[in-house]
Amino acid sequence: MISIPRVSTRPVQLEAPTQPKPVDAGKTPRPATDGFDPTPRDWSAFNGTQRLAQGEEGGEVGGAGAKDPVRSTVKLSKKSERAIEHMWRDNDPPLTEAEQKKIKAAFTELTEKQILQLDKSDMRIWKGQGLPPDLADLGLGVPKLTTRAAYHPGLKVLQLNPDKGAFLSDLRHELGHARDDIGDEKKATKPIAKIADADARIAAIEKNAGMMSTSSKQFATQTLDGDRKLVSAKMTIGEAREKFLARVENVQDDDLFNSGNARDGYARKSPEEFYAEAYATYHGSDTQQQARLLAYAPEMFFILQADAKANKMPVLDVKVLEDTKL
Ligand SMILES: [Zn+2]
Repeated sequence: MISIPRVSTRPVQLEAPTQPKPVDAGKTPRPATDGFDPTPRDWSAFNGTQRLAQGEEGGEVGGAGAKDPVRSTVKLSKKSERAIEHMWRDNDPPLTEAEQKKIKAAFTELTEKQILQLDKSDMRIWKGQGLPPDLADLGLGVPKLTTRAAYHPGLKVLQLNPDKGAFLSDLRHELGHARDDIGDEKKATKPIAKIADADARIAAIEKNAGMMSTSSKQFATQTLDGDRKLVSAKMTIGEAREKFLARVENVQDDDLFNSGNARDGYARKSPEEFYAEAYATYHGSDTQQQARLLAYAPEMFFILQADAKANKMPVLDVKVLEDTKL
């Protein structure tokens, strides 16, 4: 079993950085349409469609060989468990015991504070097409879910496909979006259900459909300078992704970091997917994928490392990852 490497007391140095692997001409890349659903969607009923649609476009279904990664060793508090159970209320039929267990396991990538914040902001976990009854009444026209799971920013709904079971890594990825969605504290404490007027509720959903990863907020992080020494830097998630894209220009999609069952190269797709994939990879338990995250997206890695430290979450050992084969 692979466990999360714990914090190292050694200073962080990237003196002998791992070099991106060149494209192996002998490998056949998987088709770009692997698991991707090209069906056009009808967002006409909702004015905030562009932003809401941005998060998920159905590319997250893994191909054959999809698997659940080894689960994290972090334990949830009773308070966290109760908050999660509150988020999945109203499901009819109720979620199975196995589904409940898996969802709770995925939530271990968030702190108790973040989980309580999500519940307070009325995040919902909904298995089925459409939305929970009270949100469905708003007539937002949510399209048919074709992937195993999706997270709708603004609405704060983690939707599960009733016909396709989600993997633990799918849930981690979607919770990465949820973390991204509540990155802005003010937005996190506005439960949609508490707004009585339907028009005002839709306006609130639209207003909150932006994600931290696409906002202009600066993050303190570290990056590699010309001598491949770590130096301080401030950048947005979008800028960290630009650096990643430039670095992996000649790296094949299936050699990039992957949270588990995402489509190959999914982190390239958008700042939101880059964030969710990086977040779920960092808080997952696959050391090789974490090593790839460090090698190909060090700026993002150190944003997540700082975030984990600030939230007293398990911190990855840079030295161990540097010694891990990509
Ligand atoms: Zn996603």
